[in-house]
Amino acid sequence: MRSTAVDTDSLRLLIVEDMEDDALLLVEHLRTGGLSFDWRHVDSAGGLREALSEGGWDIVLSDYSMPGFSGSRALEIVRERDPDVPFILISGAIGERAAVEAIKAGANDYVMKDNLARLLPTVDRELREARLRRQSRAAEQERSRLAAILEATPDLVAILDRGGSVRYLNRAGRGLLGLFDQSGDESLSLTDMFPERVVRRLTTEIFPYVRREGAWTGETALLHGEHSELPVSQVVLAHRDAGGRIEYLSTIARDISEHKRFEAELEHRASHDGLTDLPNRHFLIDRFTSALQRARRHGNYVAVLFLDLNNFKRVNDSLGHAAGDALLREVALRLKSCLRPNDTVARHGGDEFTLVVDDLSRAESALAVLSKLNTAFSTPVDIGEHEVYVTFSTGIALYPHDGDNVDDLLRHADTAMYRAKSSGSSQYRFYSPEMNARGQEFLLMEADLGRAIEQQEFCLYGQPQIEMRSGRVVGVEGLIRWRHPQRGMVPPTDFIPLLENSGMIIPVGEWVLREACRQHRSWRDAGFDSQRIAVNVSAVQFNDADFPGKIRRALREEAMQPQLLEFEITENVVMQDPVGATELLCELHALGVRTAIDDFGTGYSSLGYLKRFPLDVLKIDRTFVSDLDTDQGDAVIVEASISLAHKLGLEIVAEGVESARQLEFLRQHHCDLAQGFCLSHPLPEQDLQALFPRIWS
Ligand code: C2E
Ligand code: MG
Ligand code: MG
Repeated sequence: MRSTAVDTDSLRLLIVEDMEDDALLLVEHLRTGGLSFDWRHVDSAGGLREALSEGGWDIVLSDYSMPGFSGSRALEIVRERDPDVPFILISGAIGERAAVEAIKAGANDYVMKDNLARLLPTVDRELREARLRRQSRAAEQERSRLAAILEATPDLVAILDRGGSVRYLNRAGRGLLGLFDQSGDESLSLTDMFPERVVRRLTTEIFPYVRREGAWTGETALLHGEHSELPVSQVVLAHRDAGGRIEYLSTIARDISEHKRFEAELEHRASHDGLTDLPNRHFLIDRFTSALQRARRHGNYVAVLFLDLNNFKRVNDSLGHAAGDALLREVALRLKSCLRPNDTVARHGGDEFTLVVDDLSRAESALAVLSKLNTAFSTPVDIGEHEVYVTFSTGIALYPHDGDNVDDLLRHADTAMYRAKSSGSSQYRFYSPEMNARGQEFLLMEADLGRAIEQQEFCLYGQPQIEMRSGRVVGVEGLIRWRHPQRGMVPPTDFIPLLENSGMIIPVGEWVLREACRQHRSWRDAGFDSQRIAVNVSAVQFNDADFPGKIRRALREEAMQPQLLEFEITENVVMQDPVGATELLCELHALGVRTAIDDFGTGYSSLGYLKRFPLDVLKIDRTFVSDLDTDQGDAVIVEASISLAHKLGLEIVAEGVESARQLEFLRQHHCDLAQGFCLSHPLPEQDLQALFPRIWS
């Protein structure tokens, strides 16, 4: 059997012929030629239609002229159903023109009956070509299915030629690029699709890699409209021809902006404080590290400020946590308003904030930040129906003076902040190296303080207060001393801050109160029953809810008249929390004890403000008194303080009077009481009573 290019096993042949003999002749001829097939013969339109509806015909051989039917009609019917099946006319007499017409109408060839030698090669060729047509039609269908998928996919798909021009871009791609109104035929280049930096990366890095390795995957960005970008995850593939040469590249890009937003949100949460949305400690350290790197390069200064809110605990305790949170949020906003774009403010935890001020050309510029902070917090913060004045204790460390790395600088700012806090509120301190040395010493002392109460190492000295009119001792200020077994007499300024920081001031303060009441009882026993005794109260004690209770018990136990007991509070303690202070001062007033503002003039208060508090005494700070002889300005302040105090109905005490001239000035300006070294130093209990009968002239 001769072989053909076509798989002939299931070959099916349809013959349209009115003469059955002619049909057999054809079959005979083809079989003799070696073709094996099944066949059927029809001779009318109806028969042809019926046969076609069976389907599966590989070739149609049709007579040209038949009575009542024709080859051209048969062709029409065949083409209606199947555009691909080869149709060959077999005719005894077909004119040239008719043959051309038939070919135009879709016949594949024609063979003359008297030249049947052409039939077999013709059939053979047409079967082969039909098969190719079918294959290419299937390929075309496959291609258009793939194209439909590409057009429907939500990812960008593009084909790039070797020169990098975009040969195909799917619909989603046009959407992602913001080219909604462009048809797919518009020619695009890489620069129409990608931001400049991505184009650079594609051409210098990614494409060369793909040419070597075949594929690249990673994250890039697409242009989206004129001004924005879209982050994408991208795949680039190289496609080679049969010879292994790269024919074109394709790329798929998926919009990952949602994912990126989510990632950014997570990152933000990990690096920011949930309550205030300020950077947290981790983020601060990052920013601080890069600020130091910049400063190293440019020879600039960096300041780090440690801020501790002074009255926060009280707000939280008295107004509730919601109010505390609201206060912290407002503080965060105001702090931010003080900074320039490169600066950082972070919440360090609780009520502590850290500011990193970048790029200072002079170390002194850190002061400008302090002054901005002062202005930002000069008005009270509204929380609900309450107004709270916010003050900070601030420690400052400077790069490069105080350290060249983040850890040291933060630690030193923290140390300076503690120093500021212990020297009274609303203070700032620049770090100094002695602070560390002092810090070591403080640590040792702190340990010793633990046993000082048990070992009865504290004692209470008294400094007389003299009434200027009469020259008599009308009162005594109790001043604590620590008789340290090794260090000797330690002054209160060295250990009170330690007691305050550790909370030990509460029991020690209570001891002072009881000791004062006890001494007073012994004076009365000795016949001195009109002298007053004053004790100093620190901020921590002032915030102790049981403070009034302790006073009540001490008075009761020593059977003491309350108006002979006085409490000295510095104005800063009062101004830290005016609302809470008013409450407590009213409570003390109701107990009948006297209250004095100590160190007046050094803090932030004004007499106008003090008018609102129930007070009895104002003590002018000794720095104004000691400069009375030399500083005209201080004389004016002292004079004004005296007359304003009198207008407010307050008694006024000048403390730290060291000279007769100062005493004379105070007498002339009607100061009520004086206290100072020129009258008497603070004295131990046993020496004090001897002064009571004395009259100073
Ligand atoms: P303060 O309440 O302002 O006490 C007055 C301070 O001035 C005392 O210092 C006193 O010795 C000193 N002074 C008195 N006259 C003169 C003078 O003419 N010239 C000079 N330069 N100084 C004079 P001291 O005893 O060292 O106390 C210092 C501070 O320690 C007190 O300042 C007070 O704030 C605090 N303090 C003392 N005792 C206690 C206490 O029992 N509890 C608390 N919380 N603080 C106390
Ligand atoms: Mg005092
Ligand atoms: Mg004082």
